[in-house]
Amino acid sequence: MAASTPFVPPPRELLRPLAVPYRLLLGPGPSNVSPRVRAAGGQQILGHMHPEVLQAMDEIKAGIQYAFQTRNRLTLAISGTGHCAMEAALLNLLEGSDTVLVGTNGIWGQRAADIARRLGAKVHELLKPPGEYFTLRDIQEGLAQHKPSLLFITHGESSTGVLQPLEGLGELCHRQGCLLLVDAVASLGGAPILMDQQGIDVLYTGSQKVLSAPPGSSPISFSERAREKMLRRKTKPPSFYLDMGCLASYWGCDGEPRMYHHTVPISSIFCLREALAMLVELAARLPTVTTVRVPEGYNWKDITTFLMDKHNIEISGGLGPTAGKVLRIGLMGHNATQDNVDLLLQALRDALQHCQHSRL
Ligand code: PMP
Repeated sequence: MAASTPFVPPPRELLRPLAVPYRLLLGPGPSNVSPRVRAAGGQQILGHMHPEVLQAMDEIKAGIQYAFQTRNRLTLAISGTGHCAMEAALLNLLEGSDTVLVGTNGIWGQRAADIARRLGAKVHELLKPPGEYFTLRDIQEGLAQHKPSLLFITHGESSTGVLQPLEGLGELCHRQGCLLLVDAVASLGGAPILMDQQGIDVLYTGSQKVLSAPPGSSPISFSERAREKMLRRKTKPPSFYLDMGCLASYWGCDGEPRMYHHTVPISSIFCLREALAMLVELAARLPTVTTVRVPEGYNWKDITTFLMDKHNIEISGGLGPTAGKVLRIGLMGHNATQDNVDLLLQALRDALQHCQHSRL
């Protein structure tokens, strides 16, 4: 056989088209990606140092600062999933035989403890039965007993469905000279979290949960306290890829000209940028009054009249600048129920089928 003859035949399965069925993803993540975010991921690739990509990275930073409610300058997205951000946080903050206290009330604490042990840290696990959360007293006792330099805790424990209260934790940690590291992969965007006000030193999340972007990029932010601890390191972090110093430079977080570190996954950057934009837009929405654009070709008055006459439901048209353009739906107090949402959606479907519709 001539040396240039390939002996591995072309895999037949790759000659078939990729088959991706539609599925409604109602598990604890990933969640379905919106058409807008999918379209962003389908854009043509640009170079990883092109101004448009760097601008998207800057916009992501601003979006993360908003989503995390932080002014931390060391804020960026790790090129990797939630585990990667967990690993990045631990390996940059722990050095030598640093002591870390890990709140374990489900799998995520176990994972963090595993990573920290691999890094050679002294790991103490504060254990709680699955389904329970840590009280300030639990944490206080753990800190007093083990005197760690870092506390790891999971905000949204997706293996047990528990939300960890964070109020007062930061203060408690700081009084003991300890940094607070919070995993918000399953909660960020869905349950309130205020990084600066709650004194969180390192916070990370994933792209594929509440943000509804494809998996593979993970927002993370470090407080000044955390940054200083990293600056005081005597040894380099044991990973080049996840070295926050290098990443800070690439993401333009250190006020210096940006330095190439790795090729950011450009499509993921576009997706995350759009997902954060949607979060920003969503957060500016009033939960009690939902405004919906009048579907093209319909007259708003026909719809509101139909709902009133046929379904005994009142909704309103626009007001002032939105007159003629939107429908306004109130969900307030006693009326704010799932049943009423379903009822209205059904009635709206009926209206769209029966109201006059000009074909455009
Ligand atoms: N932390 C929590 C709370 C999670 O729910 C998950 C994902 N299920 C992770 C970390 C790990 O994230 P990933 O699977 O994206 O690596």
